[in-house]
Amino acid sequence: MIQALPSPAAVLDRDCEQRSENGFLDNVQGSPGHRIVLFRGGRALVRDGGLAFLDPAEAAGHLPPGTVTVYLGKTIGVIHSTLPAGTDIVLKVLADDAGDLPWVPGGTFFSGFRDVGEALADADTAIFVEAQAVANWHMSHRFCPRCGAPTIPEHAGWMRRCTADGSEHFPRTDPAAIVAVVGADDRILLASNFAWEANRYSTVAGFVEAGESAEQGAVREIAEEVGVHLHTTHYLGSQAWPFPRSFMLGFVAYTDDIAAVPDGTEVREARWFSRNELQAAVLSGEAIISSRVSIARALIEHWYGGTILEPGDVADKSITDPAGTGAAPSGHATSGGRE
Ligand SMILES: [Zn+2]
Repeated sequence: MIQALPSPAAVLDRDCEQRSENGFLDNVQGSPGHRIVLFRGGRALVRDGGLAFLDPAEAAGHLPPGTVTVYLGKTIGVIHSTLPAGTDIVLKVLADDAGDLPWVPGGTFFSGFRDVGEALADADTAIFVEAQAVANWHMSHRFCPRCGAPTIPEHAGWMRRCTADGSEHFPRTDPAAIVAVVGADDRILLASNFAWEANRYSTVAGFVEAGESAEQGAVREIAEEVGVHLHTTHYLGSQAWPFPRSFMLGFVAYTDDIAAVPDGTEVREARWFSRNELQAAVLSGEAIISSRVSIARALIEHWYGGTILEPGDVADKSITDPAGTGAAPSGHATSGGRE
């Protein structure tokens, strides 16, 4: 039995049925208890290492025409000391050319997820990702794909309707398979892309094509990019990755092939690592692996059987060091024996 990746519970109740009713958004925004998340140009307003949840009074009268409003949901538990359970969270997506915003509170600034993601609490991460996904969609779907007429938001920002033909359009995601490839000797195969710094390694990912299952996409992508043939794939879990709109389906997969052959166009190098080799390479800086906010890292650590230490972690006693003892902690089922 292969253990799935952890899947945290939702932090917001999106209230999908109620939010599509007329007047829902007006009711929410008529209450002083709701809070506002601000997005512009793919970046969120943050402060103190977390999202800035603005009091509606702070934004009143300042939001320029063209701002899109989206109901993100109601907090399910207490996610912040300043946000009681049941707080409605509303997203305001400012146009990219919204200009200076001298009214935003001091100490706040706009930041992209890649810059701030590792510092965010889990609840803020979930809200940031939801906001990013729906904001990206609004910015790129202002016109009808059928007739080219403008579309306008409805259903509290979760649908856009064409002003000419009335067609309904919903947020899109592009499914991608991301795969931790494990060899018969239990080593992991990681790839380095031409687009990255030379010593960065990650799992291989690729978009699932139309009419293809995620498993078929995984097998095809791995054959194309690193030249190995998978005999078994196990789905482990998923992650929304709205940059701009990917939906990652994570797999661990197995091959009997020994030689990996990078495609030479996208993948520069494909390299096998044992657990000790990978941990040593990361600690020495010889290899950089994916960030802890990514499903790529979760897949690699699923195979590894614990937390892979970064150079900055060594003094941190709170993180265990399975490689240092040569034994990964139990509790994470992997494909077989340890090295
Ligand atoms: Zn249309």
